[in-house]
Amino acid sequence: MEAFAVTEHPCFFREAARRYGRLHLPVAPACNMECRYCSREYDCPNESRPGVTSQLLTPEEAAARVAEVVKKDPRIRVVGIAGPGDPLANTATLETLRLVHARFPQLIKCVSTNGLLLADYVLQLKAFGVRTVTVTVNAVDPAVGAAIYAGVRWRGAVYRGMEAAALIWSRQAAGIIEAMRAGLRVKVNAVFVPGVNGHHLPAVARAVAALGVHMMNIMPLIPLAGFAHLAPPSPKEIAFVRTVCRQYVPQMDWCRQCRADAVGLLHAADAGKHAYCVT
Ligand code: SF4
Ligand code: SF4
Repeated sequence: MEAFAVTEHPCFFREAARRYGRLHLPVAPACNMECRYCSREYDCPNESRPGVTSQLLTPEEAAARVAEVVKKDPRIRVVGIAGPGDPLANTATLETLRLVHARFPQLIKCVSTNGLLLADYVLQLKAFGVRTVTVTVNAVDPAVGAAIYAGVRWRGAVYRGMEAAALIWSRQAAGIIEAMRAGLRVKVNAVFVPGVNGHHLPAVARAVAALGVHMMNIMPLIPLAGFAHLAPPSPKEIAFVRTVCRQYVPQMDWCRQCRADAVGLLHAADAGKHAYCVT
């Protein structure tokens, strides 16, 4: 069977979002970073946001899940790994991609990562059918990044403060460069944290545009964990910053901030529906 066109990826092409779906496989619980807004403690079947899953799957279970879902829903074009932690901090991610690509070479494989280890894995990801990658870049200035990242674990050491933030952006930039070189389609997600990085997002847009990324997705903060006291940005604030950033790089404005086990179309009645809802 011929591979699906990358233009059928619903998160990279607006038109595709109306017609095609994605399936997230929750195989990656561990993370090597500590974002202050991140909470992966909850396992609520009704909560719909990144970092949440009802169940973790092994690579074999994940491949079986793909078989089950694509049989029922021929609109599925993308199999993505988006957590609940960082995909590249988990060996299960590569094993899952290997199994899924061997059985379903036509599906687009997609990974959403904090980018810390992306440069190390680009070629393996490509070999296992990954054609689209999302890297979350919240800051390119270490002073701003230090307010968002509590720390990072890198090559066996822990870094904090501006040192951590500088390291994170340098690894993200290296990963993006490698991914672009390998011919992957790259999107950058940025979490808009009011009072922390809102003013800085145009600088992020400029920096990632200079690396050639195809799209940027500014997502409103979901106030949790260390940022539970902050208010999310208003729709007006988001629209404004997207307008500014659009000068540098095309903007995604149809993201549903999906769970790590989301399945189906992004739009329409089944948006936010996920595979393992038990209620
Ligand atoms: Fe959470 Fe993702 Fe940040 Fe890791 S990179 S701490 S999983 S938001
Ligand atoms: Fe697409 Fe946004 Fe959902 Fe990721 S979180 S699968 S970019 S709609």
